[in-house]
Amino acid sequence: MFSFSELADIVGDRTSRRVNEIQIRRFCIDSRKITSGDCFIAIKGEHFDANRFAEEALSKGASAAVLDNPETARKLREKKHNIILAENSTAALGKIASAWRDRINAKVIAVTGSAGKTTTREMLKTILSQYRKTSGAEKSFNNQIGLPISILNAEKDDEFLVLEAGTNAVGEIEKLSRIARPDIAIITCVLPAHIEGFGSLENIAREKASIIEGLKPNGMLICKSQKELIDALRGDAANIQFFSLNNPLVGRENDIESFEINYKGSKITISGTQFQIPLPGKGNLENFIAARLAAVRCGLSDEQIKKAAGKLKTEGGRLEIIHCRQSSVINDCYNSNPGSLANAAEVLAAQRQAVKIAVAGDMKELGESSEQLHIQAGRKLRDSGADKLFAFGDFAECMLEGFGADAGMAFEDYDALERSLLEELRGNEALLIKGSRSMRLERLIEPVISRI
Ligand code: ATP
Ligand code: MG
Repeated sequence: MFSFSELADIVGDRTSRRVNEIQIRRFCIDSRKITSGDCFIAIKGEHFDANRFAEEALSKGASAAVLDNPETARKLREKKHNIILAENSTAALGKIASAWRDRINAKVIAVTGSAGKTTTREMLKTILSQYRKTSGAEKSFNNQIGLPISILNAEKDDEFLVLEAGTNAVGEIEKLSRIARPDIAIITCVLPAHIEGFGSLENIAREKASIIEGLKPNGMLICKSQKELIDALRGDAANIQFFSLNNPLVGRENDIESFEINYKGSKITISGTQFQIPLPGKGNLENFIAARLAAVRCGLSDEQIKKAAGKLKTEGGRLEIIHCRQSSVINDCYNSNPGSLANAAEVLAAQRQAVKIAVAGDMKELGESSEQLHIQAGRKLRDSGADKLFAFGDFAECMLEGFGADAGMAFEDYDALERSLLEELRGNEALLIKGSRSMRLERLIEPVISRI
């Protein structure tokens, strides 16, 4: 990928003296996973400083290391190791990834948005990889560490590289976009998620819209047609393709002829081709519309996309429907915010069982509007047709207030929640389980499945 001296130049280290010129073929930030010849990059995390593990990485066969602790760098240089001293290793990782991005041939697609990033990214990986050599981000790799790592994992001859860009502070998306320099960027939607850090939906939209800053000059932005996003992008000269299910004008522009959402997936006809999407909910249908636009831009035909669509799968804990005897359990425990809860409530409503139960945990990081948004969420669940609510967490009472106290219960204690829920189940209901990551509501899945 790089020679050691090239790497020193990229990172901007004038102090490095190479012991002998070596070629770096792989980068690794986890000293436990070092393989011979890797370049170790020592990142300072919230809980640990990987400079401490540099010596261990080198003794395991790393051929070089990028550090940001001058004292450690000095000691290891004395021991004749190939060391690059950076001002900040995370920034160095970004610079190295950015340099690799210039050397690979792949068209880069970067996905941002308040919800649906991972799902859309995986849709694109699945569709593109049926026909072309494609790589992309894994797991939740979407920050200043995960995105560069995903770039560095790309091979030189990959045709497509699909990245995810996440944010919880102003400026993050622009930084990530300048590293990735996407040919195609996608904004799936804006919702009040992480609103604590941003203050308003307008600010969230502005943050997402800043993905345009790193877009290649002849690149294309695919963006949900939402007022906040349109406002944030106003005056931008970039090539923007808006998409929407509901706005008839934009819908027509996208050539959406008709669509139908059922309890386990959707059908949509675009430009005369009917696609079957085996993922539930309106959000996933919109994610598919965005993914299809990107795939068309990448040169795929609708016939090719249609065939690949059959292979799409839900990601773990994201609107994953488990059909078990007479019941359906919707596992959406991966995370929660008002928008994704509303989306999940509609998926619950579409289930065929007569009785519908929602188990809803707190939605985190909503700041001052927390109480209000939990009350609204409770109301949304009720309006969508949930018959009973099991609310869990610090805001359980608010959610119950919105839902109607006569038809639900609020719990602060997990064991009490589990006990009451299991007592309630008759084995013929549709059940939605959803909450923010830290509520760990996936704990309920196994007991519920064994009960029904
Ligand atoms: P994170 O910020 O945690 O990385 P993400 O943006 O990658 O999240 P996903 O993991 O794809 O999002 O989906 C998370 C949840 O958001 C899903 O379980 C689903 O409930 C909801 N969701 C997915 N797509 C949409 C959408 N387009 N609109 C609204 N809600 C959606
Ligand atoms: Mg994600």
